[in-house]
Amino acid sequence: MDQEKIVDWLSKGCEQIQLVLTDQQVRILAAYAEKVLATNETMNLTRITALAEFAIKHYVDSLSCLKAGVDLNSRGIDVGTGAGFPGLVLAVHNRQSNVTLLDSLEKRVKFLVRSSEELKIDNVECIHGRAEDLGQRQSRREKYDWAVARAVAPLPVLLELCIPFVKKKGSFIAMKSGNVSQEIDNSQRAAEIMGAELAEVRIFELPYNMGLRSLVLYRKVEVTPNKYPRKPGVPQKRSL
Ligand code: SAM
Repeated sequence: MDQEKIVDWLSKGCEQIQLVLTDQQVRILAAYAEKVLATNETMNLTRITALAEFAIKHYVDSLSCLKAGVDLNSRGIDVGTGAGFPGLVLAVHNRQSNVTLLDSLEKRVKFLVRSSEELKIDNVECIHGRAEDLGQRQSRREKYDWAVARAVAPLPVLLELCIPFVKKKGSFIAMKSGNVSQEIDNSQRAAEIMGAELAEVRIFELPYNMGLRSLVLYRKVEVTPNKYPRKPGVPQKRSL
């Protein structure tokens, strides 16, 4: 892989969202892109393999969370992180944060463990499991200042999977493609049941016309009732 190319696209993309990365952050992200793309030859990690698209759709999109107005220099969880988007990227940017990368696919989690060790990204914890199970564990439940999820499930399902992790007064950022006003309307009941309130929606275009994105921000205002999240598969089958 041509690391200079990804460095160039990443720098140009960040400039467009008024974000400056340090040389060290850029170097780590370029090295991580190389690992993802090399491993992608044998393990399904991403369908985005062109370097410009990788830089914008994975990195700049992940970093756009910094514009949600949430202090990420605290304890957070990325639910359904896949190849580490957005959680690993945010951890590289915010070294004071402590980010749990959760995914139900074990081989992806093993890849994350290996790569974060090799690149010395020591403020991540990579966990294999389902959000439905982890969210019921006392050591995880309402222990996070923020949660984030990208491309995992429709919003009502995501609220049930993510809000149980968040402390009261904490935040949940749902990263969505396109304009999601209808999906947000359909999620009002789920948000209320989970103890969350819609705080803000930011709609923006990725650099180089690479697509419309929405950051949907919720604040946790009440403790989540014990019965949520329900057993694995139920939030998806019978969404709130
Ligand atoms: N967030 C990454 C991204 O945007 O590139 C990955 C998105 S991928 C389409 C969805 C990921 O969510 C998969 O890696 C899948 O294993 C994980 N996932 C789906 N349901 C989950 C659940 N209930 N608990 C934990 N992980 C889950």
